[in-house]
Amino acid sequence: MKDIIIALDGHSACGKSTLAKALARELKYVYIDSGAMYRAVTFYAMEEGLITEGEAIDRNLIIEHLSNINISFNYNSRTGKSETYLNGNNVEEIIRTIEVSRNVSEVSKIKEVREKLVEFQQRLGKNKAIVMDGRDIGTAVFPNAKLKLWITANNEIRVARRYKELLEKGYKVSLKDVEENVAQRDFEDSNRKESPLVKAEDAIVLDNSYLSKDKTLRKALEFAYEAMKK
Ligand code: C5P
Repeated sequence: MKDIIIALDGHSACGKSTLAKALARELKYVYIDSGAMYRAVTFYAMEEGLITEGEAIDRNLIIEHLSNINISFNYNSRTGKSETYLNGNNVEEIIRTIEVSRNVSEVSKIKEVREKLVEFQQRLGKNKAIVMDGRDIGTAVFPNAKLKLWITANNEIRVARRYKELLEKGYKVSLKDVEENVAQRDFEDSNRKESPLVKAEDAIVLDNSYLSKDKTLRKALEFAYEAMKK
């Protein structure tokens, strides 16, 4: 069996990262959350006052700061999970807030931001044996990935899952906030100029609306073992 790159793309809150993590665990592959990188850049910009609530994002200011942004992933042996670090600080949780979610799609439209992060993502995939999820993994980051999955689920289910996840983490959000944010990010991610969210022609569609996490994983593993033989 050859080591391969597995690319998972799809709209917001459709279960990509849950599946990607489970796949990586089963296959003993590395899991990389590319969305966490865009979130970390956004969080940095918010912390540094480069983004002001209600005002248009100053792209040039963010581009000027890009060389000060260093993102890494470190394994936490206590939780058994890889966590996102921004300039040496653990930001794994704080980058998931609805405030970051509200700004992230604007930041990820910036060509220079994408170039920096895509270069990093491609470096991480050099040795294969990797599962990466995002919006442009099968189209722009690893167009030659041996397995590309397009993960999808119906709108109501996606919103309900994300709402539950945020509540469980203790964030105070309304269902309406989540609904609006998911719709806004879907629209912006699909309609941007740079690497918009589209299904790669050779991606396999996996609709998990009515599948358990375990069934979804089993299906994805079948595709993975098949792809490893080629
Ligand atoms: O995957 P997650 O929902 O955490 O991604 C947050 C945002 O980061 C997305 O809504 C999108 O704007 C951006 N993103 C992207 N390209 C990726 C991954 C995420 O533009 N490969």
